[in-house]
Amino acid sequence: MSGSDLVIQGVTKRFGSFVAVDDLDLTVPEGAFYALLGPSGCGKTTTLRMVAGLETPTEGSISLGEQVITDLKPYKRPVNTVFQSYALFPHLTIFENVAFGLRRQGKKDVKQQVGEMLELVELGQYAERKPTQLSGGQQQRVALARALINRPKVLLLDEPLGALDLKLRRQMQIELKRIQTEVGITFVHVTHDQEEAMTMADNVAVMNAGVIEQQGEPVELYEHPQTTFVANFLGQSNLIRGEASADGSHVRIDVEGAALRAPRGRAATESGGVWLGIRPEKVFLSEAGTESQDGSNALRDGVITDVSFIGVSTQYLAKMPWGQELMVFEQNTGARKGFRVGDKVDLHWMPDHTFLLDAQQDAS
Ligand code: ATP
Repeated sequence: MSGSDLVIQGVTKRFGSFVAVDDLDLTVPEGAFYALLGPSGCGKTTTLRMVAGLETPTEGSISLGEQVITDLKPYKRPVNTVFQSYALFPHLTIFENVAFGLRRQGKKDVKQQVGEMLELVELGQYAERKPTQLSGGQQQRVALARALINRPKVLLLDEPLGALDLKLRRQMQIELKRIQTEVGITFVHVTHDQEEAMTMADNVAVMNAGVIEQQGEPVELYEHPQTTFVANFLGQSNLIRGEASADGSHVRIDVEGAALRAPRGRAATESGGVWLGIRPEKVFLSEAGTESQDGSNALRDGVITDVSFIGVSTQYLAKMPWGQELMVFEQNTGARKGFRVGDKVDLHWMPDHTFLLDAQQDAS
């Protein structure tokens, strides 16, 4: 643990008999951009509100570095929050909105600090405007500047981009990341948008029904999900039922008469009933009967049942002999093969791109 790591230990929050957050453990390293990702109602806002001091944990503790903050009043915590509703003061100028926290503390060099902060969020020329004279994205940046001006140790962001349209959202994601890197303050960002979490955060905790299902770097979560929930929540995946057994340095997976391979040591499970997982963009198609490339896995005799052209890629559905439809994304480069509905195809992928999950979990 370093200077100001945020450590949530064994935290449970009950509302009556309903358990919103269930024995949660989470360490957010100082200076990290951390995302809490999950569907509506999974407990992410409640977790954030407990860190802010707006809810009290039923059990467990929350600390920032050496300081236990579980029962501290919100205003005594070195923590600020940015909400989706910007909550700016409509009668004050942008400058005064951002200056508010400093003035309340009787700080001296307000002009300089606010000036620097407005530059950071690229609103220098709007200092004298009122909030209603700014766009949604600009107002969100004012809210951010106002929350950062006191240099909290942790900034909590609760779906801060939720009110913006998609294009502006994408721009603001990159902006937020730049600002976080510049200020070096720990950001904990709550979102239900997996692309947003993966674009911005160094680390993501995936929440479901009050618990963290998995946490790690975005690439790790995407390529090595440990549960079907994580596999499905972070993008599209094909989950195919198989039987796994150890085979030297590999795991052998038998699927409908085909023997497939995955490397050992990374999978959530390596023997018995499994879901064999493969992301659609990792699969490549060939005409049925084409020989496999060295070492690749192959599932044969699919029939294309759907072709969707979506610009950068073409999405195929291939119905396999056992009735399951598998998804394949093919990049639209010059070399694309362009299969049609009814074509017979084989599906290939490299063993390294396979992930294995315990078949006792629901696949959907
Ligand atoms: P969303 O993205 O929809 O905000 P969330 O993951 O942030 O979802 P929470 O707001 O943390 O979810 O809520 C988790 C669960 O706790 C929900 O089922 C919610 O209805 C319940 N809950 C939250 N606050 C209260 C409360 N004050 N009293 C009773 N139940 C609550």
